[in-house]
Amino acid sequence: MATETVPAVLPAGVSAADFRAAMSELAALLGADDVLTEAADLAPYRKIMISESDDSHAPSATVLARTVEEVQAVVRICNRYRIPLWTISTGKNLGYGSAAPAERGQVILDLKQMNRIIEVDPVMCTALVEPGVTYQQLKDYLVENDIPLWLSCPAPSAIAGPVGNTLDRGVGYTPYGEHFMMQCGMEVVLADGDVLRTGMGGVENSNTWQAFKWGYGPYLDGIFTQSNYGICTKMGFWLMPQPPVYKPFAIRYEDDDDIHDIVETLRPLRLANVIPNAMVFANVMWEAAATMPRSRYYEGTGVTPDSALEQIKANHGIGAWNVYAALYGTQEQVDVNFAIIRGALEASGKGRLITEEEAGDTEPFAYRAKLMRGDMTLQEFGLYRWRGGGGSMWFAPVAVAKGSETINQMNLAKEILNKYGFDYVAEFVVGMRDMHHIVDLLFNRNDPAEMEAAHQCFGELLSEFGKRGYAVYRVNTGFMEEAAELYGPVKRRVDQVLKRALDPNGILAPGKSGIRI
Ligand SMILES: Cc1cc2nc3c(=O)[nH]c(=O)nc-3n(C[C@H](O)[C@H](O)[C@H](O)COP(=O)(O)OP(=O)(O)OC[C@H]3O[C@@H](n4cnc5c(N)ncnc54)[C@H](O)[C@@H]3O)c2cc1C
Repeated sequence: MATETVPAVLPAGVSAADFRAAMSELAALLGADDVLTEAADLAPYRKIMISESDDSHAPSATVLARTVEEVQAVVRICNRYRIPLWTISTGKNLGYGSAAPAERGQVILDLKQMNRIIEVDPVMCTALVEPGVTYQQLKDYLVENDIPLWLSCPAPSAIAGPVGNTLDRGVGYTPYGEHFMMQCGMEVVLADGDVLRTGMGGVENSNTWQAFKWGYGPYLDGIFTQSNYGICTKMGFWLMPQPPVYKPFAIRYEDDDDIHDIVETLRPLRLANVIPNAMVFANVMWEAAATMPRSRYYEGTGVTPDSALEQIKANHGIGAWNVYAALYGTQEQVDVNFAIIRGALEASGKGRLITEEEAGDTEPFAYRAKLMRGDMTLQEFGLYRWRGGGGSMWFAPVAVAKGSETINQMNLAKEILNKYGFDYVAEFVVGMRDMHHIVDLLFNRNDPAEMEAAHQCFGELLSEFGKRGYAVYRVNTGFMEEAAELYGPVKRRVDQVLKRALDPNGILAPGKSGIRI
């Protein structure tokens, strides 16, 4: 760590002298190797995929803590110097801002070295982990210890982790796919350095911390997700017992407008738990993008022509919409539920059912089958070869699970994206009554005109959807203010009241979800 020179980037409102003094104290606490201020060391923390320059989200430093006590001491030092801290766990929030802070100059608190698996209880099927634990690490632990439990992970699985993903209210594809619903108990370092244990965690000698979510009195875990009220240093969550039989399947639909019938046919099966997992409806563009570069079918610029998409559908057996779902249980349970699903499809007169036996090892079925059992795969990173240039922003509005709503959202998203020359690369991830409509706005970050177009396009998506009562469940660090506005002034005021109460100096991740003191 160089303490003598003036740092390239400073946190807003902090003098160079104070910054250097704070870094010296942090180096004394953590060791000089765990306080990074040199450009070369900060390079991996600057790399973003969104439509804003790396500079506008550049951190001034990164500090790495190994223990809860170190995290407590870090916030106390930062409080004294008013240094803003942006916390990451495994730091792979790709397409939502990556590891970089919401605002230029914030110091990243990287918790990847806090990576202990504290407990996996094979009887209660629960886990308690530190923030740096990756899904791969946890998977290896389960395999090495012969524990028959399954994870639920997002598509970047291996390289991401349960704490960061759950804190941003991410999703996976198993029956445990709504990750925050399966979270149970947290340890949080508050801005004043106190340590809070949520749920049953504050009760002396309790053994129910990972068994009962709600504790007593106001339920607090939610306020530490997608927020900047504390730093999570431990998280508990539930794991799924490995079922005796696992049966993934796909359903192929031929027309864009079939999304209406897909939702109407499958919603009752999801609500009745006949289909128990967070199933996915992926469009042709998503399927193609995840598995091949666009240049194989189209060498031009702008929106991919329909003729190319028709060829892709014909050559690769991909539908306009492709449903991925799975059954879990005994052979008898799986057989009964599969027959119900087959019957519902026959009655609807649409959709071709594809079993694992038929699909074999072909992509994208193979990676979807892995995701729906919580296995590791990075196949979805293929999306970035589709257009090239490394730009990606997830536009993720929530839709109620009704056919008419999905048609509306599909048409609106397509119209706005196409107007700016971008493809509608989309999937719906199905919750119980809602669907996360996930659109990947893919663009070339090396082309200034495309960067600008992508930025305007994303802003228009947010505002036009907002006018119709649709809001995103999560957003990248470039648009947090706009997304927060959609949720109304009273929500914003309450967010701020909590912020002022819990972090009066506003040192924890200012700007996260649009929240500041
Ligand atoms: C191809 C591709 C596919 C993807 N698919 C999915 C998907 O299926 N589902 C999905 O949910 N996401 C998906 N993502 C988005 C993202 O990569 C994942 O959500 C990933 O899990 C987030 O990164 P992380 O787990 O390393 O969390 P982190 O980056 O460590 O954390 C995420 C955010 O949470 C906050 N935070 C982190 N740690 C703490 C802490 N200890 N205390 C307080 N706040 C904290 C910070 O604001 C941080 O920015 C995808 C991305 C790509 C590129």
